Amino acid sequence: MRNIEDRPVHKGLRNKLVNLIREKGITDENVLQALMNVPRHYFLDSAFEQQAYEDRAFPIGEDQTISHPYTVAYQSQLLQIKPFDKVLEVGTGSAYQATVLCELQAKVFSIERQKKLFDANKEFHFLKKYHTLRMFYGDGFEGLPTFAPFDKVLITAAAPFVPEKLLAQLKVGGCMVLPLNEGEIQRMHRITKLADGSFEEEKFDEFSFVPMLLGKRR
Ligand code: SAH
Repeated sequence: MRNIEDRPVHKGLRNKLVNLIREKGITDENVLQALMNVPRHYFLDSAFEQQAYEDRAFPIGEDQTISHPYTVAYQSQLLQIKPFDKVLEVGTGSAYQATVLCELQAKVFSIERQKKLFDANKEFHFLKKYHTLRMFYGDGFEGLPTFAPFDKVLITAAAPFVPEKLLAQLKVGGCMVLPLNEGEIQRMHRITKLADGSFEEEKFDEFSFVPMLLGKRR
């Protein structure tokens, strides 16, 4: 059962969480406001509404997790979203990150490889308020050629290598944010496509994501 009410107690917990994330080093006020706007407890079973406002990842079924709020804020900040940016997200999962991107006024195209998670989001009523969110069942390694090019690409699972097709679907001046490495620990990367067709690569902190896997799962 999902929560469907956002009461003052939830807003209070959310405010505390956002302050914690600010203390951990997130400085983009638009990102912090976006986190404030999304009731994270809607994305978990109602039994876990307290935990929804702790800075932790949480199981959402099918061996997958909703990312730490800090991680969501971190990736969102690196993307430097501008209003109307077209963003490709790989790994819809709970759709929490996708709604944070919508709150930043992005047009979000989010892909999930697990049919059960994709179907659950189709039934998730709260998401209907986000008219700029489109969800797809597919393999993120392929991206969405029909809707390319994108201003930004965000990978929310651990990428074993940089997916070439996603770089190809990026606009010049656009960037891709991804946790890169096959092992338990990944380093956050930002890869920017330059006008001469080359790429600039920046490296940031270490994180631990669930793996980005090839192909779809029924
Ligand atoms: N952004 C999510 C994080 C979910 S965890 C959130 O806010 O909750 C990562 C998700 O990536 C999982 O749901 C997993 O099934 C999905 N995933 C892994 N490999 C993928 C791929 N190749 N294409 C699409 N989704 C993928």
